[in-house]
Amino acid sequence: MEDEISNMGKNLSLSNEEVSGVEIPLGLWHTDSELPGFCAVGRLLSHKSFHFDSFRSTITTAFNPIRPMDMKMIDGNRILFRFDHQIDRKRVIDNSPWAFDKNLLVIKPVAAEENPMKVDLDWCDFHTHIHDFPLGKMTKEIAKFIENQIGGFIDVESDNNNGIWGSSLRIRVSLNITKPLKRVLRIRTSMGEDQLISFTYEKLPNFCYLCGCLGHLAKYCELQLQTDFVDPGENMPYGPWLIANQLHSIRKPTASIKQNRLLKWTTHAFFFYRSHYESTLGKQKHS
Ligand SMILES: [Zn+2]
Repeated sequence: MEDEISNMGKNLSLSNEEVSGVEIPLGLWHTDSELPGFCAVGRLLSHKSFHFDSFRSTITTAFNPIRPMDMKMIDGNRILFRFDHQIDRKRVIDNSPWAFDKNLLVIKPVAAEENPMKVDLDWCDFHTHIHDFPLGKMTKEIAKFIENQIGGFIDVESDNNNGIWGSSLRIRVSLNITKPLKRVLRIRTSMGEDQLISFTYEKLPNFCYLCGCLGHLAKYCELQLQTDFVDPGENMPYGPWLIANQLHSIRKPTASIKQNRLLKWTTHAFFFYRSHYESTLGKQKHS
């Protein structure tokens, strides 16, 4: 509806009366004491419809607010949340991502004077782990640089200096959820050496093992509709190995070794699959 009205404004020739506009008297605006609580807007990333009463019940339990909260569906498949206290809203935003029925719920704060339909819901904050980087050489600036390569920088966990026991760096990063999850990044060190670092993500909801995007499973992936699609079988390019262990900072060395082995195996599987896929494509092109 919002887009339709916006497009209507662009396409119509407006009269002087329409263009000149009117000023809303100050007394009609909310005063600070009348602000409608502390609001947030969200959307559920799912290609399927969902039962709103179940959603309300589950999410209210998950959010567990100190003071009452309410929510309602608004236009464009968006959900408006209203919290009685800003502490409840802050805790919910800080603890994202949330999920309902394993589907990502993107939720952002919205100010009283802001239009909830205009809030950008294509980005969501995740705790992400950087693996295979020599931790002794990792600085906050490098972490920030890497974060900006995979999304938008938010924070680097301050207690990452866990010595030889640490196998990853935990960061908070804003990811564009319309794009595939980043698995690896090739970096060049100050010594001129190429190195492949990899990423895992905490609280990762449903995502597609074929294209790496959130919001659908592989069996519903549109990649399958492409004429040159080659079914990878069990060698999916994405997999559950992208889900991070949230207790990484107190992980025992044996667990780190196991995870590194798993990571190396899955990375190997990924590159094997990709080279196989590319060679198959090459053969198809030359045949
Ligand atoms: Zn997909």
